[in-house]
Amino acid sequence: MSVPGMTHKIDAEGILYIVFDRQGEKVNLLGKTVLEELARVLEEASRRDDVRAILFASAKPKMFVAGMDVEEISSVNDAYRAAEGARFGQAIFEQVAQIGRPSACAIGGTCLGGGTELALACTFRVAADEPSLRIGLPEVKIGIVPGFGGTQRLPRLVGLPASLDMILTGRGLTAKQAKRIGLVDRIVPASYLEREALGLLRRAAADGIDAVVRSLKRPRPLAARLAGRIGPLRRYVLNQARKKTESKVNPLEYPAPFRAIHAVEAAFLHEMPQGLDYEARVVGELVPTPTSKNLIWLFKSHASLKGDNAGIQAVPRRVRRCSVIGAGVMGGGIAQLVANREVPVRLKDVRYDAILTALRTARSVYDHKLKRRRMTEREVAQKMAFIAPTLDDSGLRQVDLVIEAVVESLEIKRQVLAQAEHHLDDRAVFATNTSSLPIREIAAHAVYPERVVGLHFFNPVHRMPLVEVIKGQRSSPEALATVRSFALALGKVPVVVRDEPGFLVNRILMLYLNEALGLLREGLKIETIDAAMSGFGMPMGPLALLDQVGLDTAGHVADVLKAAFGARLGGDDTLLRAMVASGRLGQKNGKGFYRYRDGKRTTPDAEVYGLLECEPGTEIPPETLQERMVFAMINEAIVCLQDGVVREPRDVDLAMVMGTGFPAFRGGLLRHADSVGIPIVADRLSRLAEAHGERYRPAGSLQQMVREQRRFYA
Ligand code: NAD
Repeated sequence: MSVPGMTHKIDAEGILYIVFDRQGEKVNLLGKTVLEELARVLEEASRRDDVRAILFASAKPKMFVAGMDVEEISSVNDAYRAAEGARFGQAIFEQVAQIGRPSACAIGGTCLGGGTELALACTFRVAADEPSLRIGLPEVKIGIVPGFGGTQRLPRLVGLPASLDMILTGRGLTAKQAKRIGLVDRIVPASYLEREALGLLRRAAADGIDAVVRSLKRPRPLAARLAGRIGPLRRYVLNQARKKTESKVNPLEYPAPFRAIHAVEAAFLHEMPQGLDYEARVVGELVPTPTSKNLIWLFKSHASLKGDNAGIQAVPRRVRRCSVIGAGVMGGGIAQLVANREVPVRLKDVRYDAILTALRTARSVYDHKLKRRRMTEREVAQKMAFIAPTLDDSGLRQVDLVIEAVVESLEIKRQVLAQAEHHLDDRAVFATNTSSLPIREIAAHAVYPERVVGLHFFNPVHRMPLVEVIKGQRSSPEALATVRSFALALGKVPVVVRDEPGFLVNRILMLYLNEALGLLREGLKIETIDAAMSGFGMPMGPLALLDQVGLDTAGHVADVLKAAFGARLGGDDTLLRAMVASGRLGQKNGKGFYRYRDGKRTTPDAEVYGLLECEPGTEIPPETLQERMVFAMINEAIVCLQDGVVREPRDVDLAMVMGTGFPAFRGGLLRHADSVGIPIVADRLSRLAEAHGERYRPAGSLQQMVREQRRFYA
């Protein structure tokens, strides 16, 4: 018997095999149909005496179950239906747990959300020794909590600290990590997976479940056990988790992790039925929130971006070896990223000390993982061994891709390209990480200009998910497809943009930063401007961001944009110039709009007002400040769409969230515009244009959208 997504059979030995296999897809999901079938099969099994054990498996390689179908979650708009949906799943998994026969999950690869919750309901969990395997509960990333018993069973199995870590970060564990905390019982080569699980089931059917579970000697660290059981200790651990979460996100913007802490606490305060009921009510509360809707929307957008070809009709070339030229801040970060994917990378610079610093920077990315015991020294050493430092061009012939990250000078970048072309194989791709120079200019004297593309990473490279893939005038589809596919392999979000000054993100961001400088000029305080935008949900205010980027660097980008777009994007560059002229470069030299101690931002620097001849005293409500800064960005994003810099609104929204930290709970810049209302945005921009100047004049296509009563998203 089968439904699309799942098959089952009972063999002569009385083992019920339930095998997930969504037809025509790479991933298995738990949709309503599969869950209903699962309920029916379990119901039947519970009535049959000849079923001795249950084995859950998947017919797909490297994939168990990737969770619930988010499409089904996002279609639910009321708390009652959402809670009922959770109760439905809980009841099925409770039946697995209570069926009185041993059960096992054979986890061959990705096991997320509902997949992990099913595994938790089983007696045994066996995982494949497969590097890409991840077991996790990522629900907080879509603004909800695990709703099929995950918040109740995980803490009971692995203790309070480990379960909080998994549920609050949403991070997937490798098989080894899962074994270390007692989440999986055995790790075996993929080809032995079913055999091992069957072995456990047979033993349990013969000797009794308890005897086999005891023999597994699941790790139960004393501290983890006590943390849950002793009231004051438990409250302390929960409080620490709450504080840590508060330091990262605001409960009004992202309620899920805070509600998850309560749900996990309930696992220690109540019996299973009450705990499950609490969990279902929390799911009911969270599913209809705009935050969850927006996060799911971003998740789906990301998936669709990965799935389409961005309009590039070419087969990407596989990158087996790579070279990074320029071992500075960016080059070091890029080399680490490439090495982390276990692709050999030559890291070239003209200075040996730069290479040493870059290697140290690359290594420091791993220090955090070492400290948190997510990697071992040996694993780090293995990754670092993929980076080969060099001062010459030896070996360049073997690489499929060069990523150039030397200083931002057209002349030097052209020289580097010319020199590389001497050595490179004809089909090798040359990607430049320039943040402001036109790709067509860099490629102007190239022998093979078609192989030159832009690949713009953001700083810090290992943290910022966005890369802009820039299509130069003569870049070939194959070169573009190759860097885009490589960026995806590096785990980045590649947005393809046209070769226009500032590309996409810096162009939109410049308007925002200009607005902030304009407000400073109008007499607002540094902290008032920044607090308004932190209040909107940005990770930091615009003036703090300017300090972080570097005032000289920002000034350089402003010059490029002013030269290209004139007054609209030029802004008032006298302030930036005055700051740089007085020796204020921002965080890097400890002097900017803020003061710095040991590299850390402390207080706004009041001397700035005198220097810039601004008189702080003007009061404007934060909502108005937000409107001015955010609507300016919306307007420019619309101009970018109008000019074909990017193909669709989705690309703008992903780029802004992944590249600038635009608040994900708002779904992105243009989705935010939709939620405010397109006519309201246009009306406010017209009024701002009357009051503050032409730069606010609503873009032509915005006015057209108002006339046609259109939104960015249906
Ligand atoms: P950086 O000054 O830290 O490093 C540049 C490195 O290039 C130096 O180590 C220098 O020795 C080396 N170099 C100079 N000439 C060279 C040559 N001919 N061959 C090999 N190496 C050479 O600069 P960075 O901040 O890493 O920026 C590098 C590039 O990335 C620039 O184009 C910049 O615009 C771009 N970028 C920077 C950031 C950022 O935030 N720093 C963000 C995005 C893009």
